[in-house]
Amino acid sequence: MRQLIAGNWKMNCLGADAVALARAVAAGAAGIQADLLVCPTALHVAAVVQALKGSAVAVGGQDCHMAPKGAHTGDIAAPMLADLGAGWVILGHSERRQNHGETDEMVREKVLAAVAAGLTPIVCVGETEEQRVGGQETEVVGWQISGSLPKPFSGVIAYEPLWAIGTGRTATEQDVAAMHGFIREELVRQFGEEGRGIRILYGGSVRPANAPGLLAVPEVAGALVGGASLDAADFLAIARAARSV
Ligand code: PEP
Repeated sequence: MRQLIAGNWKMNCLGADAVALARAVAAGAAGIQADLLVCPTALHVAAVVQALKGSAVAVGGQDCHMAPKGAHTGDIAAPMLADLGAGWVILGHSERRQNHGETDEMVREKVLAAVAAGLTPIVCVGETEEQRVGGQETEVVGWQISGSLPKPFSGVIAYEPLWAIGTGRTATEQDVAAMHGFIREELVRQFGEEGRGIRILYGGSVRPANAPGLLAVPEVAGALVGGASLDAADFLAIARAARSV
């Protein structure tokens, strides 16, 4: 299985910038031994899909509502993302959990909505610094997995320790190995054999310099990249560090 390198562009880029970034990623994607995905703001999904036509770079959203349509002002339904050509959606990102009060139960419902619309969800889990200092990181992540993932689950997990997101602080390779090993055990415990095939990404200040080490850690099936995905050269350099797992 190839590793997946996914860029979360968050609330960045005006339309022309998003198209230019997408084109730059596509232009450098030839020969890269990883699956590539970019997730612009929903407003730019259609333009980015258009810019990436004919390339191997996939497009995803950053969130979706749990309902397929209805009276939800300002929200975006999973079928709308799919209609624009997105194939993926990030769900339960810590910024959504913190800034929008998303609970595990809400994330689980969103996963169901995404899958029903034909999207592949990337479900984010991860502990706060306080929880890690308190030695609760595995307990927290275990609960997030059981609360956020429906059974069966056809998607990807991203382990993103909150203290490493956008901070420039990266979890050590030992931390990542320990947590990814725990997540795998937990997936097998909760999902049986199906749990062995679920890809687990690492996210949190992944950069070209630390990507080779992080992507070589056992059970790391790719990276969810925030800040560095806004620079095509950095994103591609991270992707070049990917390997088959
Ligand atoms: C993210 O927000 O998903 C993320 C990993 O961000 P960064 O790479 O900037 O830490």
